[in-house]
Amino acid sequence: MAPRTVVRHQFDAVIVGAGGAGLMAALEASKRCRVAVVSKLYPTRSHTGTAQGGIGAALANVEPDSWEWHMFDTVKGSDYLADQDAVEAMCREAVEVVYDLEHMGLPFNRTPEGKIDQRRFGGHTKEFGKAPVRRSCYAADRTGHMILQTLYQQCIKQQVTFFDEYHLLDLLIEHGRCAGLVALCLATGELHVFHAKSVLLATGGFGRMFKVTSNAYTLTGDGCAVAFRRGVPLQDMEFFQFHPTGIYGLGILVTEGARGEGGVLRNGRGERFMERYAPTLLDLAPRDMISRAIYLEIRDGRGVDGKDYVHLDLRHLGRDVIEGKLPDIADFVRTYLGVDPVKELVPVQPTAHYAMGGLPTTLEAQVLADGVSRPLIGLYAAGECACVSVHGANRLGTNSLVDIVVFGRRGGRHMANALASMDWPTMPAAPEARAQDLIGRLTSPASGESAAQIRAELQQIMMDHVSVFRVGDGLKEALGGLSSLRSRYQHVAVRDRALQFNVELEEALELGYLLDLAWATAVAALARTESRGAHSREDFPKRDDANWLKHSLASLHDDTVALAYKPVRITKFPPKERTY
Ligand SMILES: Cc1cc2nc3c(=O)[nH]c(=O)nc-3n(C[C@H](O)[C@H](O)[C@H](O)COP(=O)(O)OP(=O)(O)OC[C@H]3O[C@@H](n4cnc5c(N)ncnc54)[C@H](O)[C@@H]3O)c2cc1C
Repeated sequence: MAPRTVVRHQFDAVIVGAGGAGLMAALEASKRCRVAVVSKLYPTRSHTGTAQGGIGAALANVEPDSWEWHMFDTVKGSDYLADQDAVEAMCREAVEVVYDLEHMGLPFNRTPEGKIDQRRFGGHTKEFGKAPVRRSCYAADRTGHMILQTLYQQCIKQQVTFFDEYHLLDLLIEHGRCAGLVALCLATGELHVFHAKSVLLATGGFGRMFKVTSNAYTLTGDGCAVAFRRGVPLQDMEFFQFHPTGIYGLGILVTEGARGEGGVLRNGRGERFMERYAPTLLDLAPRDMISRAIYLEIRDGRGVDGKDYVHLDLRHLGRDVIEGKLPDIADFVRTYLGVDPVKELVPVQPTAHYAMGGLPTTLEAQVLADGVSRPLIGLYAAGECACVSVHGANRLGTNSLVDIVVFGRRGGRHMANALASMDWPTMPAAPEARAQDLIGRLTSPASGESAAQIRAELQQIMMDHVSVFRVGDGLKEALGGLSSLRSRYQHVAVRDRALQFNVELEEALELGYLLDLAWATAVAALARTESRGAHSREDFPKRDDANWLKHSLASLHDDTVALAYKPVRITKFPPKERTY
């Protein structure tokens, strides 16, 4: 095959990813320097656009609230694994960023007096756990869509340069410094080399490693995997959140906002089973607890008709609330299940939803080369691909949208400020060589395995052994399976040899990322012999603070994943037993 055309660019800052984190970073950085955004999707198709329920901030618009209560809930929800200085920064700044978004034109729902309206969400309470509080600011069930549209408009106004449908393949890291990146242009098949003083990764999550997931097809952890292959460790990979209410059989999300508005979960006998698991917060307990409760109900034969689902009951909310505050959800349920939520029960099951783990960063979104204290000059990460860590072992609903805008903005600001005193980094001799190689390996063999088959097996393994409940033997079996899939991946052959819009090639690249991240996840999960947040080991059912109140760091060394650990930063709230 002829070598691909290489096109070169130079920008002060390049942001990879055009979801909420990437756009917020671009907007902020563009106030002081030349910024490009490289995104494999057209910006407003990013997964942020599907976020339904809302963005949490203690505005106290409808009842008393404070950022300290928000901080307490986030720390408790995280099962005490979150770094409390990061949580404090997030909960304090949440208030300001929500007002900033409002001033940029985001059409939030309103109270009768015209203030931003707020609703309840799982794990968010008043007075340090006494009762649920209305903290989630929302725009019907389209909050993420509105955030994305608002930020994109602002970026256009700021003249940010967009490279839409460009796929990150490699980061250029020389002498401990990031010098830019290489991306594949999907429309032409050309390679584009970006020389930059700094790069911010905002490539989102990787729920596609599981069979049942709420995540878009594109959430394959590209930024995390590319940095991991370049020697950056990944933090807390064993913690992956399952959201309790995915549409049965499909995994498409029914927002927690449905329970925030008063929806109730019922087992096959019609019982409100959360009364037994979380007597105070009931259906608004954190997601890890509810997902486990659903699995236990099903296991004890109390699923609906002996099947592996339960019901979400919205009937008592009435047509006005359902159509007015949850219109998209009502539509999904009618379209995909033929069920009318105004009159009928909605079948739901837990669905893989959110990666708590990711690239370790400082509070200014600088990626930590050693995972602990040494920033990798010129490399930043924000949003779901980063682990700052504000979510610890389990994220509360509405806290990702806060995370992406707060830390996207912090990263963008730090990048722009640091640039003035930075020289241009030296470029490696043949910057595109590794990316050429990667593509060449997938497109040269005359015959070989299909990526689709390997991906299906990967998703099944992760679902069977690395999902809501885990056990040592199952994790070992998963690792054996993953190892054989990784070997088979070496023999994948992309049959389509077209340069333009080669989606088969893109899918094969994405499978490679997923395999690496699944591997790190399973290794970290096997090592952690306790249960905390979303990581629930049936063979080690208790949380073990004496041995495991620490973050994991997984790094790639000579084709093995090595683990190291670092302490959790605790400032205000010492670990306690987590009851709701
Ligand atoms: C269905 C659903 C509902 C949700 N609801 C809520 C909610 O109500 N409240 C809440 O707080 N959280 C919610 N979440 C979680 C939250 O929406 C996400 O965690 C968050 O939006 C992630 O934002 P991000 O900017 O990090 O990444 P994303 O929005 O996922 O964007 C990732 C970007 O990276 C780009 N990218 C990826 N790989 C490459 C590559 N190789 N090359 C170039 N570009 C690349 C993509 O093009 C995209 O622009 C929800 C999630 C889902 C799936």
